[in-house]
Amino acid sequence: MDKPSVDKTLSTGRIRGRFAPSPTGPLHFGSLVAALGSFLEARRRGGEWLVRMEDVDVPRTVPGSAEAILRTLERCGLLWDGPVLYQSQRTARYQAALDELQRTRLAYPCSCTRRDLADYPRGRDGAPIYPGYCCNGPRHPDRPCAMRLRLPDTLLTFQDAIQGEYRQQLATEVGDFVIRRADGLFAYQLAVVVDDADQGVTEVIRGSDLLDSTPRQIYLQRVLGLPTPRYGHLPVVVDTHGNKLSKQTHAPPIDDRNPGPALWNALEFLGQSPPLKLANSRSGEILDWARTHWRLEKIPTGVQVRSSG
Ligand code: GLU
Repeated sequence: MDKPSVDKTLSTGRIRGRFAPSPTGPLHFGSLVAALGSFLEARRRGGEWLVRMEDVDVPRTVPGSAEAILRTLERCGLLWDGPVLYQSQRTARYQAALDELQRTRLAYPCSCTRRDLADYPRGRDGAPIYPGYCCNGPRHPDRPCAMRLRLPDTLLTFQDAIQGEYRQQLATEVGDFVIRRADGLFAYQLAVVVDDADQGVTEVIRGSDLLDSTPRQIYLQRVLGLPTPRYGHLPVVVDTHGNKLSKQTHAPPIDDRNPGPALWNALEFLGQSPPLKLANSRSGEILDWARTHWRLEKIPTGVQVRSSG
């Protein structure tokens, strides 16, 4: 697909990482780990670091949380390059990608409801593996239709910079997946691929909860003729019950007035062994240390390695 540059002030040909929070609540320890890991990997390699607000799912967006996340990042000293991109303003780009997928007959309308699919086996992300009812035309054309991507029956393999080789049989493990929902909103999988390409992102460092989404994203890049960035999936922070820290599980927000200890803990979580004497330091000092000592190889592998205590 044609590729407009999103921001002309950013350089070309350089390493470019990004942090892409969904503004559904304040920044918590789990999202700080993703922000810090992507920031340090980009900066350590002399690259740029962007922030993108993933507010494509407008009904889930919590008013004020985008601003709160940005304020916390600033207080942590995690300063980004260029303007923040908001997915809610990018509908035309997602539509252009969908048009192309429809032209090549890779996208098709699907009238199945959640209830129609309730009894089907689910993939790792909890969505039903689509049994293909509508792949030759919607069964109920009178209903509002989602758009699904038709998948080939092939194995997709990629090398993750942290977790090593990852393989997924897209058709049987995921199934034709939704790229635009029946309510008209574009799905994360399509939006993230279009945005990473338009923003010239070369490095995607993020939580391992998205590891199983990556083959879908790589497949979309291939069919849209877009480059594939390097991927690295960080271990996910879990609470004492083994649940991923998230806004839904009411993870406490990072303390904006004194973010140093959280940054230190995030470095420790990521296996970087920051010196104890920095444990109560200001964020600037901790980041100065981290920028020179950061090593991706020290990050523990495994998708859920530690409890946050
Ligand atoms: N918006 C997603 C989240 O907050 C992250 C997406 C990504 O990094 O690709 O979990």
